[in-house]
Amino acid sequence: MDLIVHSLYSNKEVFLRELVSNASDALDKLRYLSVTDSDLLKDGPELDIRIQTDKDNGTITIIDTGIGMTRQELVDSLGTIASSGTAKFLKALKESQETSVDSNLIGQFGVGFYSAFLVSDKVVVSTKSPKSDKQYVWESEAESNSYTIREETDTEKLIPRGTRLTLYLKRDDKGFAHPERIQKLVKNYSQFVSFPIYTWQEKG
Ligand code: ADP
Ligand code: MG
Repeated sequence: MDLIVHSLYSNKEVFLRELVSNASDALDKLRYLSVTDSDLLKDGPELDIRIQTDKDNGTITIIDTGIGMTRQELVDSLGTIASSGTAKFLKALKESQETSVDSNLIGQFGVGFYSAFLVSDKVVVSTKSPKSDKQYVWESEAESNSYTIREETDTEKLIPRGTRLTLYLKRDDKGFAHPERIQKLVKNYSQFVSFPIYTWQEKG
């Protein structure tokens, strides 16, 4: 984690590209599977990405209506850094023998889910797969090398399908919780995403 944070520090805004690309992948998977199994869309036909900023609380929430994850998929996909796309990036980083990461390498490889911790003290992923009747919450703090998984009990956070990811921004990174900032990043890095991306802000 330290290695990622240090080597990517000057490019930390890539976190949004990575999380939006995961949301887009999850929507692609759902769309693909729904061709032969239209039941998968019974919880809602919309395929989109919503990004909510809350500058008072310093949070960003990214919600997609994609394939979501079962409890087991949460463990397998986000359980350890070794199982994520971030591991592939770290391997490439070591092989490149560079001390600092240029944007070329970052562009070539996805930095992966763990890039969320470049700007966050805490990351909470609440997710609902069409294969499961329960919604699960994965939570991890940057300082700890562990995570917890529990069932979602907050009715305000229940979603019919997909993934709701909240970043609790680090003190120095709370500026990302401004809608203009997010809109600019989406425009710069995610313009080729084939699903609608909506941004809105929490009323103060
Ligand atoms: P990669 O995208 O290269 O597979 P990541 O580290 O970005 O690696 O993500 C790891 C895995 O976590 C993904 O392959 C996917 O299985 C799962 N995942 C991450 N974000 C989401 C999401 N929004 N919806 C469903 N699954 C997700
Ligand atoms: Mg990814």
